Amino acid sequence: MNALIIGAGPAGTSCAIQLLKAGIEVTILDKQHFPRSAPGETLHPGIEPLLKELGVWEEIEEHSFLRHSGIITEFQDSAKLDLYHSEGDWEGFQFPRETFDQLLLNKAITLGAKFYPGTKLIDVVLDSAGIATVITDSRNFNASFFIDASGRNAVLPKKLNIRYQNFSPPLFVHYGYVETEDSSSFPTPRIIWDTNGWLWVSRISEKLVNWNRLYPLNHKIAKNWLPECLQNLKPTGTPNAANVTWRIAENVSHNNYFLIGDAAFTLDPLSSKGVLKAIMSGMMCGYLLGQLKLLKSDISELHSYYNNWMNDWFLKDLAKMKSIYAEKGFQI
Ligand SMILES: Cc1cc2nc3c(=O)[nH]c(=O)nc-3n(C[C@H](O)[C@H](O)[C@H](O)COP(=O)(O)OP(=O)(O)OC[C@H]3O[C@@H](n4cnc5c(N)ncnc54)[C@H](O)[C@@H]3O)c2cc1C
Repeated sequence: MNALIIGAGPAGTSCAIQLLKAGIEVTILDKQHFPRSAPGETLHPGIEPLLKELGVWEEIEEHSFLRHSGIITEFQDSAKLDLYHSEGDWEGFQFPRETFDQLLLNKAITLGAKFYPGTKLIDVVLDSAGIATVITDSRNFNASFFIDASGRNAVLPKKLNIRYQNFSPPLFVHYGYVETEDSSSFPTPRIIWDTNGWLWVSRISEKLVNWNRLYPLNHKIAKNWLPECLQNLKPTGTPNAANVTWRIAENVSHNNYFLIGDAAFTLDPLSSKGVLKAIMSGMMCGYLLGQLKLLKSDISELHSYYNNWMNDWFLKDLAKMKSIYAEKGFQI
């Protein structure tokens, strides 16, 4: 049994580590060369036991990433710190994604994953059991299972005509980075609500602050826009935007494919759990295929379990997101 994983983000590499631990051969391909930058730098504390389970905790500790015990929400004229835990000792992480993603990828490669960077999926060839071959811009790949971890790009659904159900109007988040000399600025991630939407500001390393801006009702933003609270700081890199419309694939797994991470479902960054979901869904997929190998489980039962698990999770988070937006005056 072997698996081909498309995408070396946190979903793909977590899945790879879990599969390799179960004795399943893994090949990972990614269209980019690593280390590569990616948005999503504030991580929920629930990620800590997962990183321990994946065997990367020592490496995480070596980096001494920034930690925070909660998130500050500014709404109307008040600011409130929402702790992850009432005692304040459950801490999330802030870090540059390129460092974090590379660390997970290194672990997968150490465990035996074959990695093909700069390799872009172009097409798939199908047979009666599902995907037979993946065609890339450099070579073809065969495997028993094909795992789409390509993020919001969702390459397999495009090739397999898997539709997504949308649960929001089109939502675009704009993001960028500024440099700061003051290492005490923005120690705690902060969400600032106004009549147009929200702004998320968070320091992600000693010298770098990240901002994200989302207008739920109107996604136009001026070129070179910078949040008022960061105007005296120097922008670095090119500001960008991403489509974060709330959506889930109609079948997150079937035949010999699994969709994990953002390829399976997306909510906007206000959920602050994108990376957590990527890792958990990757690990779950790896665990289920490990059960298939070990116990010769029924694949249709595994698909049914995975589809129900992902759909339940999405619907619960969806309800929470709707209520947060409604509290702030946005009906989505
Ligand atoms: C602006 C913004 C801010 C965010 N902030 C947060 C946050 O603070 N906290 C949080 O937890 N989440 C956040 N998120 C969400 C988070 O970024 C994602 O949920 C997470 O990266 C998903 O991981 P993934 O592994 O599924 O996909 P990705 O991390 O997107 O990785 C996908 C990989 O697939 C590769 N790929 C794509 N297409 C192809 C192809 N055709 N062939 C080969 N390879 C391909 C890509 O190069 C990439 O390396 C944010 C998202 C955005 C847009």
